[in-house]
Amino acid sequence: MQRRSMFKWGPILIALVSLAVFYFRSESFENPITGRETRLGLSKDEEIALGLQGYNEVLSRSQVVESGPEVEMVRRVAKRLVNVVGDEGAGFEWKVSLVRSDEINAFCLPGGKIVVYTGILSVAQNEAGLATVMGHEIAHATSRHGAERMFDQGMVEIAMKGVQGSIEDLEPSQRQTILGIIGAGTKFGVLLPFSRKHELEADEIGLYYMTKAGYEPEEAVAFWKRMAEAGGAKPPEFASTHPSDDTRIRRLRELIPQIRERASGISNTSR
Ligand SMILES: [Zn+2]
Repeated sequence: MQRRSMFKWGPILIALVSLAVFYFRSESFENPITGRETRLGLSKDEEIALGLQGYNEVLSRSQVVESGPEVEMVRRVAKRLVNVVGDEGAGFEWKVSLVRSDEINAFCLPGGKIVVYTGILSVAQNEAGLATVMGHEIAHATSRHGAERMFDQGMVEIAMKGVQGSIEDLEPSQRQTILGIIGAGTKFGVLLPFSRKHELEADEIGLYYMTKAGYEPEEAVAFWKRMAEAGGAKPPEFASTHPSDDTRIRRLRELIPQIRERASGISNTSR
């Protein structure tokens, strides 16, 4: 009688208790624009500190554009957007930089540090286009998506540790198979759908911010179409952190009428 190849329940129970502790210790967060409820793996202070550190790192190895019409436009758009963010940006110290790079990219780090690459300006084409991408990136920060991702990853890590412990006596090949299946399952079943949810939420809130700041929301549709053309070959939607261009554009179109109303303050009391 061999006592090898045993599945152990102890590590699973420990993982379940750890998951419960991790969950209940985390901060809950209700998105003020979409109403979506989440839990966060970082405090606001931690986010702000990490965001500042990341910002300084990026700037230290980049060519920052200090003057000229391009950076003036970026600053102008940032100012108009930040003005409409309101309480969601409480505690944020907003900063914006334009970096000389061909990369088609822009981001807003936790705590309100915005970086725009000159490469995206040709896709943005105008201020409303720039407001689309900057509004989207600011929405990631005000929705605290980074902290939510830390929470999700923390939960997945604890669960995986439990599984690893419970199968450590199994044959190596069996272990590999089980871990492979669970790894793919969490990636495609948990982490990527979460990222896509973040993208769509940032689209909605970004559209709201840009509209409230006085930009034409139809320009967001035009921007994402140009982005799709600039994007080239892409992985299929299920494997990507980004929603497919068709999904994104269709959803933005659907949202425009209600966003116009909310941005003009007509239905602000509905929530
Ligand atoms: Zn995004």
